[in-house]
Amino acid sequence: MPAPDSPGENIPPSARIPFSFELFPPRNEAAAHTLWDTIQQLAAVGPDFISVTYGANGSSRESSLEVLRYIREQTSVHPLAHLTCVGSSHYEANRLVREFLDAGITSFLALRGDPPRGAVEGDQFLGDLGSASELVQLIHRVQTERAQYATLPSRSASGGGAIPSTRQKVRVAVAAFPNGHPRSKRSNQDIDTLLAKQVSGATVAITQLFFHAEDYLGFVDEARAAGVTIPILPGVMPATAPTRLERILELTGERRPEELSRRLHASDSADEQAEIGIEHAVSLSLEILAGGAPGLHLYTFNQHRAVLSVLDGVGLIAGLTSPESPNHKESV
Ligand code: FAD
Repeated sequence: MPAPDSPGENIPPSARIPFSFELFPPRNEAAAHTLWDTIQQLAAVGPDFISVTYGANGSSRESSLEVLRYIREQTSVHPLAHLTCVGSSHYEANRLVREFLDAGITSFLALRGDPPRGAVEGDQFLGDLGSASELVQLIHRVQTERAQYATLPSRSASGGGAIPSTRQKVRVAVAAFPNGHPRSKRSNQDIDTLLAKQVSGATVAITQLFFHAEDYLGFVDEARAAGVTIPILPGVMPATAPTRLERILELTGERRPEELSRRLHASDSADEQAEIGIEHAVSLSLEILAGGAPGLHLYTFNQHRAVLSVLDGVGLIAGLTSPESPNHKESV
């Protein structure tokens, strides 16, 4: 988010629009090898951060942390860790947050996560933390406790106790759902939930992907009217194949983008499909940026070419890279 008083009057406006990427941990050795290259390609264009998803119920704790460590140690990009709390006791969630902080991770996306299929609200499985808001609070609490311990042992030569002064702050992002969470019971529930997350200490919201600019812009207007002041970063995914579009619609319940869907299904060339998906994501991004979006968060599916083409099309990385044409060999 460009601060109003940020330096660099001469920087062209496009250079000040931040963007970021989402990755998921690799599922095997071969995928890991490819991912390190992908991360380097993404890092080269100077994203604000790269986020790494967290497998349902902690299934990817080790591999998520490995990717976060790689980003932290092998690039100059800030890593952001997704964490979920569903099914965790207070003790487990506390230990998890501590483990990530110990690894030097200071930015989080606090999520409730999805209970396993068949689990019902109120099941014991749902754990001690009932919502993402509680995880936001827990992350801040754990960080504050750590900071206090870190300053306790140091005593000055004159014998005076050290006063905790510049505690390392954590950034805690949360999820937002422009078209409503699939399990929301009423239309304004998602705005209320977002407000609760802000009150709990969230510093930014990242949205579920969407295909229509008015869905995001309308949601932001409603959120602002309700008192949400934190930046709401739009999540954008280039749908570069009809199979990917169908899978995403099934998973998220998002409204079908009719024209995009028709064009993707009408083409049997993978290269052309990728171009169609990128073109749609570029025009969506331009529209939401013109409408005031504070940046772009791109869902990469662990592939760099399509998202770099989108950023190039929007004019955010001009001169930094020349993305090759979208590679149809990349898996969907
Ligand atoms: P919450 O904000 O706690 O709630 C979700 C919805 O439940 C709310 O919108 C609201 O409708 C309802 N709700 C919440 N609290 C209450 C209440 N007290 N009373 C009534 N209703 C309530 N999942 C993963 O497993 N790993 C990931 O890495 C991951 N990354 C994601 C990244 C983004 C950007 C997004 C948008 C989602 C991600 N998810 C991930 C999916 C997420 O875990 C699910 O959507 C989950 O069902 C909700 O998580 P949440 O943090 O939004 O939960």
